[in-house]
Amino acid sequence: MTKRFNDDWKPQTRLVHGGTLRSSFGETSEALYLTQGFVYETAEAAEARFKGEDPGFIYSRYANPTVDMFESRMGALEEAEDARATASGMAAVAAALLCSVKAGDHVVAARALFGSCRWIVETLMPRYGIETTLVDGTRMEAWEEAVRKNTKLFFLESPTNPTLEICDIASIAKLADSIGARLVVDNVFATPLLQKPLELGAHVVVYSATKHIDGQGRCLGGVVLSDKEWIDENLHDYFRHTGPSLSPFNAWTLLKGLETLPMRVRQQMESAAHVADYLADHPKVERVIYPGRPDHPQADLVKRQMKGGSTLVCLDIKGGKQGAFAFSNALEIIRISNNLGDAKSLITHPATTTHKNLSEEARLEAGIQQGTLRLSLGLEDTEDLLKDIEQALATV
Ligand SMILES: *Cc1c(COP(=O)(O)O)cnc(C)c1O
Repeated sequence: MTKRFNDDWKPQTRLVHGGTLRSSFGETSEALYLTQGFVYETAEAAEARFKGEDPGFIYSRYANPTVDMFESRMGALEEAEDARATASGMAAVAAALLCSVKAGDHVVAARALFGSCRWIVETLMPRYGIETTLVDGTRMEAWEEAVRKNTKLFFLESPTNPTLEICDIASIAKLADSIGARLVVDNVFATPLLQKPLELGAHVVVYSATKHIDGQGRCLGGVVLSDKEWIDENLHDYFRHTGPSLSPFNAWTLLKGLETLPMRVRQQMESAAHVADYLADHPKVERVIYPGRPDHPQADLVKRQMKGGSTLVCLDIKGGKQGAFAFSNALEIIRISNNLGDAKSLITHPATTTHKNLSEEARLEAGIQQGTLRLSLGLEDTEDLLKDIEQALATV
């Protein structure tokens, strides 16, 4: 990415103007460079470009002006030295993890992971001779006990999916530093606005831009952010030669998404807080987990580490699977879907969808009961959402 923002700009300004690369036409909105390649005036110019003497673009698998604007805007928001955009969140996670280790290395990861992330750690990495250990990421001692001589990488998500547990990023980063390992944080559930892993000491942060960054359910995307040296030495060649590149069209969509990210996250968080309070007092609800509430099991850590609760709420409904299904089916505004961070409020039953591949034991270990539901708040009017929830609970 190329840095294009003023250091004294606040986040909201960075999200509107950061990364903008105007063409000679002076367009207001970012231009969409839907091109595979670039032409050179002369053979000498091509030679210079390939030698790195001239910084222009070569091929859109390597870099593209619209994609570069997205990377630069994300870098401006995250205050990261460098960024690479990817075709999906999973491409970003895979790149960040695989470029951090080699055969013979050991990885420690928090066990409450997004299903595909867990597959990379648990199934894919061992195939290439990388040892892995999954731990309860909320227990600092578990990270310490899992460390081996060859531990090179820590990986976690916080808040976790779907039970919104919190890992202590600063302490885990400190432990990583003390053994010469690196910490990769998947920051999707927090969004770049509510938590800054790099500031807390993490070495790499990854996003599925598919979620809040697009925020309107249109396209997939991802991004890896870190220091320039690590990206140059570890990610650069992998990225160029394996081709997880983001389409310029999707980069353009995501750029426009970033402009409204703070307003959307604020509104969704406000609804989430209201809904969490409403559910916590409801007789048909057994448990509510919301990082913004004082009864969250790690409320102190939330305060230290995050700038707000979350746009998601986790709840256990009475009556197990039957209760959860009856409630979900009765909802009229909130739709059943496995996605999150969308303008539309979405409800998920993890035990039968996103987490169906876990054994019963692993599922319970992750705090997922048959009555557990994950609710992602959208941009609808909060009162309409509360009414919808009220009428649906009445049918359970
Ligand atoms: C959705 C998600 C991913 C994967 O992102 P895609 O864009 O769907 O590939 C990874 N991690 C977390 C926490 C997610 O929510």
